[in-house]
Amino acid sequence: MRKTRSAGCHRPGAKEHPHPWPDWNFTEAFPALPFVYRRSVIKDAIGKVRSYLSNRANWEKSGKKKGRPGLPGGTNHPTLYEGAFSLELDGLDLRKTFVRLKVYTGQSWKWVNYPVKYSRYFEQRRTEPGWEEHSPKLVVRKHAAELHVSQTKEVRAKKIVESKLSPDLVTVGVDLNVKNLAVITVRQSAAIIETVFVTDHGLDQHRYRHLKRIAKKQWQSGKPVKDEHSNQQLWRHVRRMNEDAAQKVARSIARVCARYPGCVLLFERLRKIKPKGASKSRRMNRRQANQLRGKITHYAREKAYTIGTVTTEVNPHGTSQYCSRCGSPGERFSFRDGRRIQVKWGKLFCCPVCQYEANADWNASVNVHHSFFGELHWQPRPKRSG
Ligand SMILES: [Zn+2]
Repeated sequence: MRKTRSAGCHRPGAKEHPHPWPDWNFTEAFPALPFVYRRSVIKDAIGKVRSYLSNRANWEKSGKKKGRPGLPGGTNHPTLYEGAFSLELDGLDLRKTFVRLKVYTGQSWKWVNYPVKYSRYFEQRRTEPGWEEHSPKLVVRKHAAELHVSQTKEVRAKKIVESKLSPDLVTVGVDLNVKNLAVITVRQSAAIIETVFVTDHGLDQHRYRHLKRIAKKQWQSGKPVKDEHSNQQLWRHVRRMNEDAAQKVARSIARVCARYPGCVLLFERLRKIKPKGASKSRRMNRRQANQLRGKITHYAREKAYTIGTVTTEVNPHGTSQYCSRCGSPGERFSFRDGRRIQVKWGKLFCCPVCQYEANADWNASVNVHHSFFGELHWQPRPKRSG
């Protein structure tokens, strides 16, 4: 089913494609290919070429040298239209859940039942009103096959500029960190009306332990041993932990947004920081933590949008260094042996000007709102004249 080009060319009566390969016999190569599959492959090929042509046109218009779009590839995940499959989903009872696919056995095409697993989130959207399900794509992987069903919903949301004019606007600010994965603050009429802390439940430590093992193995063998079986499993485990955490945090954020219809969700624009110094395992752990932040932002934005909440990114400059009450630069501190020490990673924030003290991540989260409204340290600078 990879020969998408030929399928397109040999379509009977395709006047727009006057040069089919002369020695190519489609029917011989794919005997009795069901019409629905044939149609799917043709549609897919047309879609790929269309998107390639428009990407290339955009690239040519941009005048850039880099970033020339590549030719469409050979991998093809056929879309299963009505007639090529049937999906029997009965709640989450896996015994009654299977997909019927028409497959080629080498001799003929047959209907075969395959058991399927799917998540409760898929089930929720499937049964929720307003969601539209599209024809699934069949993605065949090394050890399993997946059906990718895109679900869409029409969402009505106001533009940010319009929302910003409203005096009752509720903003939901999120500060993403390592131990406090997310500190969510809700602000209305210049006052914080709700705060939610989402902690990592030891994820950072847990992940660090695994990465330390991986790094140790790499050091012992003197080369990266990413492919080693046990390491592969460790990496998979680490990735899955990150993925789970990202989904959980994103759901918490979306839940808060759902309580304030019409609110705007604020994130800091993620900075690209390359982890430097420290040990290899620590650097690997930092990198994973950075990826987690990106994932949380991405998932939260998607989940919030389905309930009509628009997300915007704000300037992250100084959100953790300035006082959220008076806007002066402050200090971070912590306690060691009952004594107050001033350290960069301090859990607490203190302002030398107004003597304000607060949880450092919470202070940063409040500053996200200031950054959005252009207040205090984030006031737009007057344009220099001349
Ligand atoms: Zn202050």
